[in-house]
Amino acid sequence: MTHKLPELPYALDALAPLMSRETLEYHYGKHLQAYVDNLNKLIPGTPYEQLTVEQILCKADGAIFNNAAQIWNHMFFFEQFPPGPKQRPERLTRELEASFESFEAFKEAFTKAALGLFGSGWVWLVRDADRKLQIVSKPNAGNPLTDGQTPLMVIDVWEHAYYIDHRNRRADFVEAFWQLVNWQKVDAR
Ligand code: MN
Repeated sequence: MTHKLPELPYALDALAPLMSRETLEYHYGKHLQAYVDNLNKLIPGTPYEQLTVEQILCKADGAIFNNAAQIWNHMFFFEQFPPGPKQRPERLTRELEASFESFEAFKEAFTKAALGLFGSGWVWLVRDADRKLQIVSKPNAGNPLTDGQTPLMVIDVWEHAYYIDHRNRRADFVEAFWQLVNWQKVDAR
């Protein structure tokens, strides 16, 4: 099948000024589009030709894995920012407290992981097979589905995610991320 650029669930300027229209034009409109185009070039004639992006990323390796995982990771990232009420549901707060002592301790640990990941990659909040919440850092296109974990939230720390709005200041991008996250979306996951 031919994969298409998934639709962004809000307008390109809906997240400004925390995440600018220009960032989304490049990050969603050009980087993500390139992963879609690359996957479509790579899969004809392979066992992955009829599979969904998620099925491909769970089975493939090399360039096919990289492009499929980058499509999945980016939509998971963009879909957690729908504008609207951002209160944290009590159920999620209680679970974060149970796993990380307090919400502040979770936020600090996730921020530290996002700042500490060397080079390009993704930092995830996941639910383990034993249902415990955990923070997991993955280089490059890494995705926790391949480890049997359930992703709940993610931050993209590739430089292309923040260079337009924040230049080299990854810490400023992480700060904006905390203001953008829609906790009801995370809770629903
Ligand atoms: Mn990205």
